[in-house]
Amino acid sequence: MKIRVLSETVPGERRVALVPDVAAKLAAASFDVAIQAGAGAAAGLVDDAYRAAGVGVDPDRQALLEAADVLLAVQPPGLEDVAALRPRAATISFLQPATQAEVIKALAARGVTAFSLELLPRISRAQSMDALSSQGSLSGYKGVLMAANRLGKFFPMLMTAAGTIPPARVLVLGAGVAGLQAIATARRLGAVVEAYDVRPAVKEEVKSLGATFLELELEAQEGEGGYAREQGEEFLTKQRELLTERVAAADVVITTAAVPGRRAPLLVTASMVGGMRRGSVLVDLASDTGGNCEVTRPGQVADVDGVWVDGTTNVPSTVPLHASQLYARNVTNLLQHLAGAEGLRLDFEDEITRACCVTHDGQVVNERARQMMVAEANRR
Ligand code: NAD
Repeated sequence: MKIRVLSETVPGERRVALVPDVAAKLAAASFDVAIQAGAGAAAGLVDDAYRAAGVGVDPDRQALLEAADVLLAVQPPGLEDVAALRPRAATISFLQPATQAEVIKALAARGVTAFSLELLPRISRAQSMDALSSQGSLSGYKGVLMAANRLGKFFPMLMTAAGTIPPARVLVLGAGVAGLQAIATARRLGAVVEAYDVRPAVKEEVKSLGATFLELELEAQEGEGGYAREQGEEFLTKQRELLTERVAAADVVITTAAVPGRRAPLLVTASMVGGMRRGSVLVDLASDTGGNCEVTRPGQVADVDGVWVDGTTNVPSTVPLHASQLYARNVTNLLQHLAGAEGLRLDFEDEITRACCVTHDGQVVNERARQMMVAEANRR
């Protein structure tokens, strides 16, 4: 069973799908593992560390693609790479079904079996494979540091001979994996934290981290599988109205609200940003899917009339070593669920396999992926 890993080619991507110590475990389990020369460099991982782990290192991308039984990657494969894969090869990566319809159709046409980590079910059996969680947690942590770095204030309360400094006020919108880690990080730095989510189930978790849960007089539509559902425009308008005053009171707003496969909901309008104090910071961790703030420019940090609006995309890539380590464990755990050293053993009765397999035997076999592709095509 040949496992192959390439250098990531999406601009700004610094992660790599396998790190040496995880690759060593695969090699010990009789998988034949090879990686493109330099693939770990942006995460600080040198080729010699892979060699020492029993991994082949090859500069020839095309040869690696042609040999792969399973290609492990972080980002969805590019069209050129898909064309070089063998029919019946498999890929495991983030596949971004909503925006990668062309790649998904190409994978199906090529006869490749492609798995999407976004579609992994959120069940306890799949927790060790949950790359959305591992990477979301890094985003929440780093998002708070990015905000602290720009804010012209301390986070903690300080009592000094020169006077008392009050603690910074942080508002976290969306209390999923990234939001909860943002709350924990902001609390560790000493800020006073408020948080809001449409799912009332997270209230106790928010409180246990030492933050206040904002109760808005709104009735949200329940989602499925622990996820939020896309709320109607009327709900979102009312939500923005009710949040305006809390956004204005905050020194830092961290937004993380998302609905799987949909554009991020708009929680903070331009006029709400206009109501924030000069020197305040908004970090929009939903910028990869369009952003929660109307004035976010994905990939840019802008001074909007004295308020910093940080739309950095792919935040996990700014912590590339730990992001890669966690991702490598997630992807390897899924690989070992789907395959042994002798080859793939796909059981479509199994919930994990069925939920995250997107293409197989020349077809797009995943209804959720298909719905995401259609919803995005209609939105455009
Ligand atoms: P996500 O990234 O899809 O969304 C982030 C948060 O945004 C969610 O909490 C969501 O409720 C919230 N949100 C959506 N619309 C909003 C709006 N209009 N206003 C405010 N907030 C809004 O979610 P996620 O972080 O990937 O987590 C989703 C769920 O999965 C959570 O319940 C999490 O605890 C659960 N989970 C379970 C497992 C497991 O059991 N294996 C593992 C990881 C996560």
